[in-house]
Amino acid sequence: MDYTNLIAGSWENTSDGCANVNPSDITDVIGMAALSETADMDRAVASARTAAADWAQATPQMRFDVLDFIGSEILARQAELGQLLSREEGKTLPEGIGEAARAGQIFKFFAGECLRQTGDRLASVRPGVEVDVTRAPVGVVGLITPWNFPIAIPAWKIAPALAYGNAVVLKPAELTPGCAWALAEIISRSGLPEGVFNIVFGKGASVGQHLVDHPDVDAVSFTGSVPTGRAIASSCAKTLKKVQLEMGGKNPMVVLDDADLDLAVAACLNGAFFSTGQRCTASSRLIVTEGIHDRFVAALTTAMQGLKVGNALEAGIQMGPVVDARQLEQNLSYLKIAADEGGTVIGGERLTLAQEGFYMAPAMVSETSNDMRINREEVFGPVASVLRARDYNEALALANDSAFGLSAGICTTSLKQASHFKVNAEAGMVMVNLPTAGVDYHVPFGGSKGSSYGAREQGSYAAEFYTRVKTAYTLP
Ligand code: NAD
Repeated sequence: MDYTNLIAGSWENTSDGCANVNPSDITDVIGMAALSETADMDRAVASARTAAADWAQATPQMRFDVLDFIGSEILARQAELGQLLSREEGKTLPEGIGEAARAGQIFKFFAGECLRQTGDRLASVRPGVEVDVTRAPVGVVGLITPWNFPIAIPAWKIAPALAYGNAVVLKPAELTPGCAWALAEIISRSGLPEGVFNIVFGKGASVGQHLVDHPDVDAVSFTGSVPTGRAIASSCAKTLKKVQLEMGGKNPMVVLDDADLDLAVAACLNGAFFSTGQRCTASSRLIVTEGIHDRFVAALTTAMQGLKVGNALEAGIQMGPVVDARQLEQNLSYLKIAADEGGTVIGGERLTLAQEGFYMAPAMVSETSNDMRINREEVFGPVASVLRARDYNEALALANDSAFGLSAGICTTSLKQASHFKVNAEAGMVMVNLPTAGVDYHVPFGGSKGSSYGAREQGSYAAEFYTRVKTAYTLP
């Protein structure tokens, strides 16, 4: 399978390619993705610029029909798309199908948003004058996405971009071109005018950077790592582009003495290890108060060691492989660093299975302190550390002592402490008796501190990024 660029409504032939390798079985090469050059990106941006004006004028009905078509087809093909997703990214098949379905639901939601775009009419302070406040499309938006949600994240950027009347150039992650291409192929048959949506495969440092720097791009929405996000923000400042960044996390999950132990263990197992821990919202710091600490660590250890690790496409597998060799190496090196700094590492062995893939056992590091690197830096793998806290107040202070602020959770039966945590946790999303990962698609998503920058994604809040506000005064 060749994943080629879609520019100005044409699928282009490209000679060079990047192999899309199945992390569960590295002998399985799923396809080859175009290794584009900056000239390809120039043409994609020019195509979007040409198409932007007409799409900005498209009726809500036309936009609704396009997005509804895309959402319906993704939902109808969720099993097939989920299989492709699990094959190229390594999350388990149920997780892959669930993510594909989520992408369809996102397009359906934003189809509805096409019909719900509103403005304000206010009385002027001057007699006889009318004031209208409306939202206009931003223009050409560049979308840059990571590998860990290879269909949902492109969906939650493309759908609002199109719904609010923008033209798009997508630069998907190098490791997961298959889902991005499949989504682009559906979009190409949706009735969307040619050139409104373009996709360019290739390296972040070359074509991604070129998209960010391009003078004809009005806004950039990025999801990925903190260093890349910072570099993109600084590039966007030079050309005064609108920019939105969703980056890493070091998400705390507080477990208090009064928590339901089974519920807390299930929430931490899910939050830390599902999707192989490769979620920006993963529960990577488990902050546990003294009275429940030892029982919690023992119960989570048993549950973690019971997880069935293996080929993502096989039935009954609960944790698939790590995405690639580099990420696996990073996970294992963080476990060594944690042990060298005094933590007790449980699990985390490199696994050799029948098929050669990037497998490791899930790992917990107990007896850690919050100044250790394992608690300061994002690992992005199936690795959770445990911190002891005297009481709720110390647990909250530890939770907030982080450069990140994406998601924060608490397991407790105390309404008083849950309510206090919801207000005082320094995070964009707070979960009570729920894993830190796992969100709805119709409400805002995003973090605080070093995790996010700019307007929120998802739900009707997405309009803040994908539109510009215009105020018009009329003397009839
Ligand atoms: P990454 O930063 O390496 O790459 C993300 C994207 O940026 C890729 O498409 C890449 O090609 C591109 N890129 C790289 N350098 C670029 C440059 N100079 N200019 C333009 N584009 C460039 O991240 P990744 O390894 O793909 O993804 C993992 C990271 O994503 C983790 O840190 C994770 O926490 C984060 N993430 C965050 C969220 C969120 O919503 N907060 C969601 C998922 C993943």
